Amino acid sequence: MIPILSHQENIKQDTFAFLKALNESDYSGEIAKSYASRLAVATDNSVYQCLPQAVIFPKSTQDIVRICKLAQLEEFSAIRFSPRGGGTGTNGQSLTNDIVLDLSRFMNNILELNEAEGWVRVQTGVVKDQLNDYLRPYGLFFSPELSTSNRATIGGMISCDASGQGSLVYGKTSDHVLGLQSVLVDGSVLDSQPLTAVDLIEQVERQDSIGAIYRQVIETCDSKQQQIEDGFPKLNRFLTGYDLKHVYDAQTGTVDLTRLLCGAEGSLAFITEAKLHIQKIPTYRTLFNVKYDSFQSALQNAPFLVKANALSVETIDSKVLNLAKQDIVWHSVSSLITDVPGRVVDGLNIVEFVEEDADIQAEKVAALAAQLDALIADKKAGVIAYQICDDLADINRIYGMRKKAVGLLGNTAGSAKPIAFAEDTCVPPENLAAYIIEFRQLLDDHYLHYGMFGHVDAGVLHVRPALDMCDPEQEKMMRRISDKVVALTAKYKGLMWGEHGKGFRSEYGPEFFGEELFTELRKIKAAFDPNNRVNPGKICTPIESNEQLVSVDAVKRGFYDRQIPVKVRESFSEALDCNGNGLCFNYDTTSPMCPSVKLTSDRVHSPKGRAGLMREWLRQLANNDIDVLQLESDLFAGKNAGVFKKFANTLAKRKGEYDFSHEVMEAMQGCLACKACTSQCPIQVDVPTFRARFMHLYHGRYLRPVKDYFVAYVEQYAPLMGKMPDFFNFFMKMKLTASLTEKYVGMVDIPLLSSPTLKTSLHKQDITEFDLAKLQALPMIERESYVLIVQDPFTTYYDADVVRDLVLTIKKLGYKPVILPFKPNGKPQHIKGFLDKFAKTTKNTAEFLNKMSELNIPMLGADPAMVLCYRDEYKHALGEQRGDFNVLQFQEWLLPRLKGKAKASKDKQFFLFGHCTEKTAEPTSSGDWAKIFTHFGGQLSDVAVGCCGMAGTFGHDAGKLADSKAIYSLSWEAEIAKRERASCLATGYSCRSQVKRIEGQTLKHPVQALLEIL
Ligand SMILES: Cc1cc2nc3c(=O)[nH]c(=O)nc-3n(C[C@H](O)[C@H](O)[C@H](O)COP(=O)(O)OP(=O)(O)OC[C@H]3O[C@@H](n4cnc5c(N)ncnc54)[C@H](O)[C@@H]3O)c2cc1C
Ligand code: SF4
Ligand code: SF4
Repeated sequence: MIPILSHQENIKQDTFAFLKALNESDYSGEIAKSYASRLAVATDNSVYQCLPQAVIFPKSTQDIVRICKLAQLEEFSAIRFSPRGGGTGTNGQSLTNDIVLDLSRFMNNILELNEAEGWVRVQTGVVKDQLNDYLRPYGLFFSPELSTSNRATIGGMISCDASGQGSLVYGKTSDHVLGLQSVLVDGSVLDSQPLTAVDLIEQVERQDSIGAIYRQVIETCDSKQQQIEDGFPKLNRFLTGYDLKHVYDAQTGTVDLTRLLCGAEGSLAFITEAKLHIQKIPTYRTLFNVKYDSFQSALQNAPFLVKANALSVETIDSKVLNLAKQDIVWHSVSSLITDVPGRVVDGLNIVEFVEEDADIQAEKVAALAAQLDALIADKKAGVIAYQICDDLADINRIYGMRKKAVGLLGNTAGSAKPIAFAEDTCVPPENLAAYIIEFRQLLDDHYLHYGMFGHVDAGVLHVRPALDMCDPEQEKMMRRISDKVVALTAKYKGLMWGEHGKGFRSEYGPEFFGEELFTELRKIKAAFDPNNRVNPGKICTPIESNEQLVSVDAVKRGFYDRQIPVKVRESFSEALDCNGNGLCFNYDTTSPMCPSVKLTSDRVHSPKGRAGLMREWLRQLANNDIDVLQLESDLFAGKNAGVFKKFANTLAKRKGEYDFSHEVMEAMQGCLACKACTSQCPIQVDVPTFRARFMHLYHGRYLRPVKDYFVAYVEQYAPLMGKMPDFFNFFMKMKLTASLTEKYVGMVDIPLLSSPTLKTSLHKQDITEFDLAKLQALPMIERESYVLIVQDPFTTYYDADVVRDLVLTIKKLGYKPVILPFKPNGKPQHIKGFLDKFAKTTKNTAEFLNKMSELNIPMLGADPAMVLCYRDEYKHALGEQRGDFNVLQFQEWLLPRLKGKAKASKDKQFFLFGHCTEKTAEPTSSGDWAKIFTHFGGQLSDVAVGCCGMAGTFGHDAGKLADSKAIYSLSWEAEIAKRERASCLATGYSCRSQVKRIEGQTLKHPVQALLEIL
C-alpha cells in the first residue's frame, strides 16, 4: 500500500503572511498556495526546476499595483516576484523560488482596436493566436511570429522580444510595440511611449522612481553611445536585456522606455497592457517546399532563395522531417511534401512569397520555379524536387507542422532527450554555413544526437542535442558545451541566445557585454528595481548589490528525476518525458487538446500539470523507499489492504489529514480521459495511462466512491438490465431514482436502456445468427461477404438503433452482418483505474477476438472510443499477449471496398462532429467518412470542435456536471446551434448523449445518415 506522502515544501512565514494580507485587501485576483499549483509552474520548456512559494493570478493592473504596494511594507521586503505568461520559455526565464505572478489566467482581454491607425490595445496575458483570430475578420494581423503562437502570451513575447518565421520582413516583437503600461515594483504605473521635448522634460523632472529611470537612461545612453554602438551585435535578432541601442535617439532626443521593457525578460517591471502595431494580412501567399539531397545543400541554397525576394526561408533537416513523419501532424501535410521517387529527401527549405499584386506574385513564383527547374535539370545545389502551394489552409498546415517540429525535437527514444540550452544561436546569415560545420563538429566530438532546423534567412539555428539530465556527468557536459557554444557564436559574430532569451544563461551577460557596458545595465536595473525583487537574477542584478545572477548550473529537473529509480522512470515514461513545451495549453477551443485546462485555465489541470505531479509523486514514493512497481504487481496479485484499513485511511482523509496523493488525485479527477494528449502531445505524454495506474495504486490505500463501481461494472449490469429495458426504465424515469442516484451514487442523467432492444429491433430482419461452427465451415471466398459486429455496452444497450442501422447498412451494401456475442471491452474499468480487473477483461476478450480473427472475416465496432481501446489500452495491458486481432471502424472497413463511380450528388449536406479520441488517434477518419458520403452522392463536412464534455462517463459524474456542460459550451454549443439538427452527425456515443441531454434532440451516427442516402 502506498504510504502517506506528507512532504511538501513549506511556504516561508513572510510569504504566508503576505498572501494572507493580500487576500484580506481589495485584491480581486486569485491566490494558489497548494503544492500542486506551485509544482505546475515550477518548470517551463527548459531543463531547470524551481519551486515557487505561491502563484498569484491578478485580474487587473490595479491588482498588480495592490500587490506591489503591499510588498513595500517592511515585513514583506524580502518577497520577490517573477511575472509569467504561457510559461513556454526555453531557458527558465519565468522560473523562481519566490512568487509567480501569472498574467495569463485573467489578464487576457483585447481592449481596443483602431483599424484606421493600425493598432490594437491588449492586456498582456492575451495569447498570440487569440489576438490574430480576433484580428482576422478585419483583414489584419500582428506579424511577429513564433512556434508557440497558440499558447505564448503577448507579455512573454514582448519580454523575450519574440520573433520567428518572416522576421526579415516583419521584424521582432519590439518593432511592433507602440506603447506599454507597466507596474513598477513600488506600485507606480509607468505608461511608456516615445517621448520628446516638453513631455520628456516633465518625466525627467519627476521626483519619483519614474523620474529616476528616465534620468538614468539618458545618462547611460548619452555617456556610453560609442560602447553601445560597438557592444550590440548587428543581427536580425535582438539579445534580450536591455535595448540601450533603441531606447534613446540622440539625434531627435527621443526616449522610449518601451524599448527597454521589450526583451527585459520580466526583470524590470510587470507589463500589463500593450499597444501593438498591426498590419494588413497579405492578399497573396505562396509557399515553395524545396527538397534537397542533404541538410547542408538546403542551408547553402538558402541565400539564393532569400535573393528571390522571399518573405522567409526556413530549413529543416532529415531528423526533424522524420520525426514529423512519425507524428500525427504528418497526415495533414503528406500530400504537400511528397517523397521523391528513387531519392532520399534529407533537407527541406520552406520558402514563402507574399504580395498584394497578383501579377507581381505570379512573376516571382514563375521566376523561382524556372530557377529551381534549371538546378534540378543540371543536378546542381542538391535540389531534387519542389512543390508549390498557395491554398491558405495548406500553407497553415505546413507551418503547423513546422511549428510542431520544435516540440518533436524533444521526442526520442532512450534516456537521453533533446534539450534546450543552445537551441537558438544566431550568427550573421553569411556565416551560418561555416558556423554550422563547426557547431556540428563540437556536438559530434561529444557523440551527441541532434536534429536541426532554423530560420536560415536570419542566421538562427534550432538545435537540441540529446542529453540524459539524470546523469550528473551529462549535466556537466551540458555546461561544457554551453561555454563552448558561447565562444563559438562569438567567433562568428553572433549570439548564443539569438531568439528565446537568456534566462539561466544570464551568467554569460557580463562576459558578453564587458564590464563597462554591463555596469550600465546594472544601473538601469537599479533604477527600476533597486532591491532586486522583480525576476531576480535574470539579465542582471542592481548596481551596488551583492545579488547573484542565475547560472547554467542551477538546479535542474534531472536532479529530482534521478531520485526515481531507472526502472520506474522507464515504466512511467509517459509522464516522465514531458518536457514542458506547453503545447497542451493550446488556447483554441476548436482543438481537441486538453478540455480540462481550457475550462479551468488552471495549469494543474493540463497534461503538463498532471505529468509534473506524477513525477513528484513517484519521487516522493522513491524517497520513502517504496518500490512502486512491486506495489503494482502486489495489487494485480490481489494483495490489497483490508477494507477496514482502507476505511480508517479514508476517515483520516475526511478529517483533513494531508497526503500529497490527494492533490494528485484531484488533478487526475479533473481529467476527462479523452486521450487528446496521448496523440497530440509531441512527446506523447499519455495522461489516461498513468492516471489509471495512479488511481489503481491510490485505491489500494483509500476506499473508492460508489460511482467508480457504477461505471466500472456497466459492462456487467447493462447486459442483464438490457434483457428487461422497460422494467428498469420505469424506475430510472422516476424523479426519486434520479435524486437517489445523484445523492448516493454521485451520478446524474443516467441514460435509459434501449427499447426495443437490439435483438427485438432486428427480429424481423434476415440476419445471420452467430454460429462459430458454421462460420468456420464457410469456404474462404464466401467469408469475404461477411462482417462480424463487435458489440460494446453503450451502443448495444443504450443506443441500439445505431447498431441496428449499422447492421442494415452493411446488409444494404451487399454484405452479411453477424453480431458477435457481447464481450466486455474493459474501457470503463480502465477509466476508473480498476487495472487488475481490466487485465482480466482484456485477457479474456483478446482471446475471444483473436479466435474470431482466425475466421478471416472483418470485425467492426460501432463506437470509436471502444474500438480504439482495443488498439491502445489493450496494447499497454497485454503487450505481446494482445495478439493481432483487428477491430475496424465502419469507415475503415468500407472505404477500401468502395467500387464503381461515385453517384451524382444529391445535394444532401451533412456535418460531422467527430469524437475527440477518434479525431486525435485516427486523424484521417473524418476525411474517410467524407469520401464515403461523396461516393454515395451525399456531402459531408467536418466541423472543427473540441471535446463535447461527456467523454465516456465524465459528464454523468454529479460533481463534474457543471464542468461537462461548460466544456460543451466552449465549442459544440455554437456549432450545433448554427445547423439544422438532422444534418449534424456524431460518431461517439458520448457525444450523442451529451447533445441529447443538453439540446433535447438526438444526433445521428453517420452510418444512419448513410443508410438514408443509400
Ligand atoms: C517549442 C518551442 C518553440 C519556440 N519557438 C519560438 C520561436 O519561434 N520564436 C521565439 O521567439 N520564441 C520561441 N520559443 C520561446 C518562447 O515561446 C517565447 O519566448 C515566448 O515569447 C514566451 O512567451 P510566454 O508567454 O510563454 O512567456 P513565459 O515563458 O511565461 O515568460 C517568458 C519571460 O517573459 C516574462 N514575462 C511574461 N509575461 C510578462 C509580463 N506581462 N510582464 C513582464 N514580464 C513578463 C517572464 O518573466 C519571463 O522572463 C519557443 C519555445 C518553445 C517551447
Ligand atoms: S504534456 Fe506534452 S504538450 Fe504538454 S508540456 Fe508536456 S510535453 Fe508539452
Ligand atoms: S486525457 Fe484529455 S482531459 Fe485528460 S489530460 Fe489528456 S487531453 Fe486533458
